[in-house]
Amino acid sequence: STPPTVTGTVTGAGTQATDQFRAVFITKPEGGSHQAELRTLGQADLPDGEVLVRVSHSTMNYKDALAITGRSPVVRKYPMVPGIDFAGVVERSADPRFQPGDAVLLNGWGTGELYWGGLSQYATTRADWLIRQPEGMSAEQAMSIGTAGYTAMLCVMALQSHGLTPESGPVLVTGANGGVGSIAIALLSHLGFMVTASTGRMEEAPHLQALGASAVMDRQALSAQGKPLQKENWAGAVDAVGSHTLANVLATMRYGGVVAACGLAQGMDLPASVAPFILRGVSLIGVDSVYAPMPRRQTAWDRLAKELPAEVLAGNTRLIGLSEVIPLAGELLAGKVRGRVVVDVN
Ligand code: NDP
Repeated sequence: STPPTVTGTVTGAGTQATDQFRAVFITKPEGGSHQAELRTLGQADLPDGEVLVRVSHSTMNYKDALAITGRSPVVRKYPMVPGIDFAGVVERSADPRFQPGDAVLLNGWGTGELYWGGLSQYATTRADWLIRQPEGMSAEQAMSIGTAGYTAMLCVMALQSHGLTPESGPVLVTGANGGVGSIAIALLSHLGFMVTASTGRMEEAPHLQALGASAVMDRQALSAQGKPLQKENWAGAVDAVGSHTLANVLATMRYGGVVAACGLAQGMDLPASVAPFILRGVSLIGVDSVYAPMPRRQTAWDRLAKELPAEVLAGNTRLIGLSEVIPLAGELLAGKVRGRVVVDVN
């Protein structure tokens, strides 16, 4: 996707603004190593953008943790403010579609990777990338969904567009205690699907059942090399894990089953065979949230507003402050964080 042209700017280097704000800041000096710290910046430090947003909440996604720790090359330009999601209020806009006071949110588009992101009290961005916060949804709720929840909805939409219904049979969600997995469970169960949650944390089974899982399985059964075709269990699956897990998910799909693949928590590889595709007519759909076109995003957010009960979200979310973000990144990558993390940046 080609980034839209910037037609006007509201702030950035060269402006006289002196307002200070705090942000997570990632640097990599010439010959030095990747470092993240909490820093005080001035509004004049912000890159140019059409819209200036006073951020109230951001989130911690898997990708943010990778960016902060430097464990994968998520940051493609230094210095960088991480945070692939934010929600807040428009402070200034050079685009007539947005006025000061508008409640907005943003997911992806390279934000927090190529463009300064949401783990900050202010962000500049392009008007084409902003979504209005759905009616009745607070900034905190929007971020308790965040990219993870919006991706979960994109996965559900992908399965449904391939004809999957609750009558098709049971569905599997991998990476169940993670952000994507936990919200996928809640969404699928709300739609009437029988959901099995695959997790490495069996002690969290009660939480997964509270989200709507009707069964919980130990992820070990899917983690190692398996046979190309195994017992036919699932009509549909949402996979946030990749690698052997996705290969085993494919091998255990029922005839005509459909899998939405969005993640790589176990690995980027896919050590699978074509057997499930050519002998059982299984479909594998890739799901990307970062450059998903605006109409699909809008549909996803409209549906999230209607289909995700607020109490389910609240029970799946931990609220932290900006100063807790950097220490939490390692824990998140170690799979120790349950559900979603919202960051109150103020
Ligand atoms: P989280 O860290 O919140 O969740 C990942 C979960 O995966 C963990 O909680 C854990 O669940 C499971 N897991 C972790 N390590 C392993 C392992 N070695 N083997 C098997 N399972 C493991 O991340 P998110 O939910 O935010 O993201 C999940 C994945 O989806 C990530 O890879 C992320 O990059 C990707 N993603 C992709 C998007 C896209 O646009 N395609 C958008 C958003 C996310 P449990 O303890 O229950 O086993």
